[in-house]
Amino acid sequence: MKFYSTRNKTEAVSFKDAIFRGLAPDGGLYMPENAPDLSELINSFTPDTPFNEIAASITQALLSEELDEAAAKRICDRAFDFIPELVGVDDNISIMELFHGPSCAFKDFGASFLASSMEEFLRTDSRKATILTATSGDTGSAVARAFYEKENIDVIILYPSGRVSPLQEKQLTTLGKNIRALEVEGSFDDCQRMVKEAFLDRELSDKLNLTSANSISLGRLIPQSFYYIWAWAQAAADSDNADRSNLWFCVPSGNFGNLTAGIMAHSWGMGNRGFIAATNINDVVPEYLKSGEYNPRASKLTLSNAMDVGNPSNFERMLELFEESHEKMSDLIKEKVITDSETAETIRELLSDKNYECDPHTAVGYLASKRFLESADAVEIDGKAPRIISLSTAHPGKFTEVFDEATGKKPELPARLEKVLKLEKVSTVVGNTLEEMKAVIS
Ligand SMILES: *Cc1c(COP(=O)(O)O)cnc(C)c1O
Repeated sequence: MKFYSTRNKTEAVSFKDAIFRGLAPDGGLYMPENAPDLSELINSFTPDTPFNEIAASITQALLSEELDEAAAKRICDRAFDFIPELVGVDDNISIMELFHGPSCAFKDFGASFLASSMEEFLRTDSRKATILTATSGDTGSAVARAFYEKENIDVIILYPSGRVSPLQEKQLTTLGKNIRALEVEGSFDDCQRMVKEAFLDRELSDKLNLTSANSISLGRLIPQSFYYIWAWAQAAADSDNADRSNLWFCVPSGNFGNLTAGIMAHSWGMGNRGFIAATNINDVVPEYLKSGEYNPRASKLTLSNAMDVGNPSNFERMLELFEESHEKMSDLIKEKVITDSETAETIRELLSDKNYECDPHTAVGYLASKRFLESADAVEIDGKAPRIISLSTAHPGKFTEVFDEATGKKPELPARLEKVLKLEKVSTVVGNTLEEMKAVIS
């Protein structure tokens, strides 16, 4: 399989080139050039098929020209020492917890797979690379953890001094070894600008073999399809609904990478009925689904802040997948928009009614799932009621303040986050210019 840019379909590149480039030279996002029919493979998985086996089989099926079976298995085994978990909360709704990875958020799946893929290619080519990335807090930790101790790769992470939460800062600055944290005296925008300038500085970029690991990377998108397919296989265990044809996935969305990966899995032959795009009041995509009008705008701050995106990058990929057809997209994807007060109420209710602790993003998804079941779109198929797998994208312990505010209680902190809080921070403070950064990294 080859990959092309959403903005230029004539030039196809390999998976390897796509992941080391990150963004295509024309500014577009890389996409698979076609949707292979993997339905036979996808339907051969059973509830007993281990997650890693599903991941390796799909990787191999997609990338057979570049990776043999052993390499695909190696990449997946090195990437995933954590797996998703399904928790039944209602008769028709299960929550798929995607936060059992090292940074306690679903972004661990994408970042880990990208890191092991890069490690595999660099080892084969005897090359070294440096990941340079900026973070406003949350997403950097998934990258830092994913690349920790990977061979031939150094990581430099820029974050705005004093503007990330104490837990986030600890997650970025306590790893050491090949992970270096630069604490920038400036804003997140300064960090992003410095990263951009560094990539444009040919001498620096060549010397360090700079590459990016940001969320739009194809190498982070593809592995996000694995847990949908795994959940699809798990759903076969339910004899009530063995045909699974009325299964929906509800996806709390911001930049829409997670949902795009689900749509890709569907296009490869996963037979779920559809998806529910759940957002906070940053609702440009829901608005498009309803009206056919796409009006990107500045984002607004909400409690589910990892989804505060006003111009989602992956919308470009979604349009490609549906051949720009609003009708096709709105048939497969239904939308639900959830406010902050509803989010807090849902966190409270899930705790009091189901004794289930959830983070604000997961709450948006869960309430969207319930709303969907009450809507006119929730129709039976062959006498079967719709069933929803609602994605949980982060551990509640990452959003203690919101949880505390909503419930008056502190969420349980997983041991791996608890441990990080006790480690000592090591960072290099730098000014907010490329020159100052260069002085410390080259
Ligand atoms: C990134 C993130 C999201 C949004 O995912 P997208 O792929 O950008 O739509 C949702 N929840 C959490 C916790 C996240 O970190």
